[in-house]
Amino acid sequence: MILKDLISIIEDFAPLSAQEKYDNAGLIVGDDNEDIDSALLCVDITEDVIDEAIRKGCGVIIAHHPIIFSPIKTITNKSYIDRVIVKAIKNSIALYACHTNLDSVHGGMSWRLAEELSIKNCQLLEGDINSMRGFGIVGELECEMDVLEFLETVKSTLNIGAIRYSDLCHTKIRKIALCTGSGGSLQESAINSGAELYLSADFKYNNYLDAKSRIIIADIGHFESEYCVIDLLFDIIRKKISTFVVHKSEETKNPINYLV
Ligand SMILES: [Zn+2]
Repeated sequence: MILKDLISIIEDFAPLSAQEKYDNAGLIVGDDNEDIDSALLCVDITEDVIDEAIRKGCGVIIAHHPIIFSPIKTITNKSYIDRVIVKAIKNSIALYACHTNLDSVHGGMSWRLAEELSIKNCQLLEGDINSMRGFGIVGELECEMDVLEFLETVKSTLNIGAIRYSDLCHTKIRKIALCTGSGGSLQESAINSGAELYLSADFKYNNYLDAKSRIIIADIGHFESEYCVIDLLFDIIRKKISTFVVHKSEETKNPINYLV
């Protein structure tokens, strides 16, 4: 398959125009006229992931996080980013990122995570209702649940090492807001939505202070909240082409470890 045709399938779902201004989603390294046999899906393109792509003969790696985010002036062997880029070019492997465009489109990252956690009747948390583009969702559980019981379910469903949470100002919850990745800035919208619990990642100390008696916030981890990108991209591609080989990376790993 020609790489540009695969890219079209992804961008039909998550157009590059839907990405944030600061972002660098899209084709980052490679020739989109190359014929490729298979793709590898991951969260981050690390050296282990590029080695996996070489082993599996993948012509493109599709990641959530762009490997090049800020402008770079040199490509040497000094950082893992440089080494990944050099290895990708030497082995004719294209590097592609589907980032905030996949966060913001309807059916994107937060919608997918909500589905995995059986959160229903979802609406956009922040954004444009007409285009249905924006960040985060708010939805409901089938029935009211004990908050710690729900967090235990989230922990086991997403294989989370540890969840950090604010004061339990509710014991039972039903309405839940969530945003994959760093969603601290959406906390006020989560409160205004009437949600009892807000799941996201990378909350700061002050988020926990602000949450007190207004909402329960729970940090489920950046990687853990975004691991759903692999299944989401897999389904987007599979729906359009069933014969093309798509691998889910076995080397994509959380860079954060927990001592429990
Ligand atoms: Zn992220």
